[in-house]
Amino acid sequence: MELCELGIRQAQEGLAKGEFSSRDIVESIIARYEAKNAEIGAYLTFDTDQALALADANPKSVPIAVKDLINVEGQPCTCASKILRGYVSPYDATVIRNMKANGFIPCGRVNMDEFAMGSSTENSGLGVTRNPFDLSRVPGGSSGGSAAAVGANMCVAALGTDTGGSIRQPASFCNCVGVKPSYGRVSRYGVTAFASSLDQVGPMTKSVEDAAVLLHALAGHDEMDGTTPRDPVPDYAASLAGASMKGVRIGIAKEYFDVAGLDPEVKRITDEAVRRCEQAGAELVPVSLPHTEYAMAVYYIIAPAEASANLARFDGVRYGHRSAASRDVFTLYTKSRAEGFGPEVKRRIIMGTYVLSSGYYDAYYGRAQRVRTLIKRDFDEVFGKVDALLTPCAPTPAFRLGELQDPLTMYLNDLFTIPSSLAGVCAASVPAGFTSDTKLPVGVQIICGSFEEEKLLRISKAFEEISK
Ligand code: GLN
Repeated sequence: MELCELGIRQAQEGLAKGEFSSRDIVESIIARYEAKNAEIGAYLTFDTDQALALADANPKSVPIAVKDLINVEGQPCTCASKILRGYVSPYDATVIRNMKANGFIPCGRVNMDEFAMGSSTENSGLGVTRNPFDLSRVPGGSSGGSAAAVGANMCVAALGTDTGGSIRQPASFCNCVGVKPSYGRVSRYGVTAFASSLDQVGPMTKSVEDAAVLLHALAGHDEMDGTTPRDPVPDYAASLAGASMKGVRIGIAKEYFDVAGLDPEVKRITDEAVRRCEQAGAELVPVSLPHTEYAMAVYYIIAPAEASANLARFDGVRYGHRSAASRDVFTLYTKSRAEGFGPEVKRRIIMGTYVLSSGYYDAYYGRAQRVRTLIKRDFDEVFGKVDALLTPCAPTPAFRLGELQDPLTMYLNDLFTIPSSLAGVCAASVPAGFTSDTKLPVGVQIICGSFEEEKLLRISKAFEEISK
């Protein structure tokens, strides 16, 4: 076994015993990167000298690949956008500082949809990423580079971000474990903002235990992010001991199963997952989240509205690309943006500006906020009756590059992940099997209440055990 194939826990054990050093792991990752990146395109940039120097300075640390919208001092942070080409971060995001304080080092920058807008990584302005299980297919998105790097053993584990599904859907497509923490669990300071009321950073790993270890390192209070509470972060990995399905009440929501467009193989694998949980002692509880049908519409008002405000800072003055063609300040703004942003980002800014404009604000943004509250209440109510929900993660397995041309069809990828994002609860994607014809990985989604990561990870661990 090559060292790049190790998970976090195995790497930590070998490092502790002195079987190898952090440099040995990084060298193995670099060898895999050099052999595979031309084909898979998981990494956008990889400063190998810097990674080796960090490993030498921290010889017991575990390297982690970082999605290219999280700031790491001295490294590029492009958000896969042409507008940020050449930008170098002046500081570490809190998640990076927390990682470093807990025995991890950042190692390489992985690809994504531009500013995290998309579900296939095809919106990257800087490169193509392919699914390691079938190179003609997408890795999912927006954290597609993270998922492909984990799935292809081009890293030990990776950081992703999730606004409406961007950790969970690519994890499902590339056979990884992906955890979207509850809103507020992990600091967003130093993470380029897409939709500030939804964004969360989370682990993308080779096992549930690894996700528990990495999430514990990332999470906690941060003075720089007022959404992070002060209460201590549980030791997620320690609480996995003895995880079992016995007596776990699993909610089966009809809104997630009777859905047009749910791929029959995904349905088969999810049904089988439900059956296994029951056999392992879980109690299945039929439930309903009646406002689910509005989640997509609500998300595509709120997320673009917040994005249009957040992306206003990219105007050619302070960060990244500045149009050479500009003669005055107005053309400097418009030309820099026109040249720097890709089509999906422009579409979101236009939609967001529209729903916030005077005369439309109440009808769109104000109403969407009220429906968001109803969606959140559905979850509050359901979690009074069950421990977790089990749902399909994405409606289909990985699709072909170029297959989904229409933006609306692309948006439908997040049908099952968006409601929990709007509710701010925590959710994971855990590998559940492979399609019988195309042999593509499929994950299921497990959702728990707000700040119930400990329970989420225990149930995910129990699920991982029974799906081996
Ligand atoms: N695919 C969704 C979107 O395009 C979610 C993206 C995300 O979670 N960052 O907005």
